[in-house]
This record gives sequence, C-alpha cells and structure tokens, in this order.
Amino acid sequence: MTEDLCNRCAKCCFIVTDLRSKEDKTILKQCKFLIKENNEFSCKVYESRLGRILSRRSSSTIICKMYNSLHTEIKDCPMNEGNKPLIEVELKGDYALANWSS
Ligand code: SF4
Ligand code: SF4
Repeated sequence: MTEDLCNRCAKCCFIVTDLRSKEDKTILKQCKFLIKENNEFSCKVYESRLGRILSRRSSSTIICKMYNSLHTEIKDCPMNEGNKPLIEVELKGDYALANWSS
C-alpha cells in the first residue's frame, strides 16, 4: 500500500467523539487539524500528525494513525485492503455521518 493512492477525501479525518446518532447513523466530528480550502482538504499538522491526540474521553483516547492501522476501512477508499469492517462516511460540512452496517 502506498499513501500516493490517497485522494484526500478526508473521510478518515472525521472521528467518533460521542455516540449520538442522526438518521440512524453515527455523527462524526471533524478533526481539529483538518483544513478545507477551495474544496480541497489538507492536514494542518501533516508532517507531525501521527500520534497526535484528536479526542480524549474517560474511556478512550483517539490518536491520528496510518490508515492501515485503523480498525475499520472506509467505503471507496483506494487504500483499503479488504480485510476489515467497512463503514460508509458521508461528509456534511463540519460533521459527517457514518453508516456502520454497510
Ligand atoms: S479515506 Fe482514504 S482516500 Fe480518503 S483521506 Fe482517508 S486514506 Fe485518503
Ligand atoms: S491529524 Fe490526522 S485525522 Fe486530523 S486532519 Fe490530520 S491526518 Fe486527518
């Protein structure tokens, strides 16, 4: 796998910070380091992103990881290896909806 495949859709830069739902889907919050300019996404801390704390809750801490280290794969991501549960992420501005059942 090579990161060159990434099309910068940013769907893996929206994270679960609580378990609220909408339209029967989980609401994901945009990573605080994600930037959107002219319809293009980038990471404000790209060079030092790995290991950054993105969200801290009493039960879990979410950190930025390589895509292939995540516990799930995102539908239509060209980095998928096809061996993990798939989720569908729909971007809705500064939040996203995740469908875990696809
Ligand atoms: S979901 Fe895939 S294609 Fe989109 S930003 Fe993440 S790694 Fe890149
Ligand atoms: S820190 Fe990680 S999750 Fe956040 S925008 Fe950068 S690459 Fe995406």
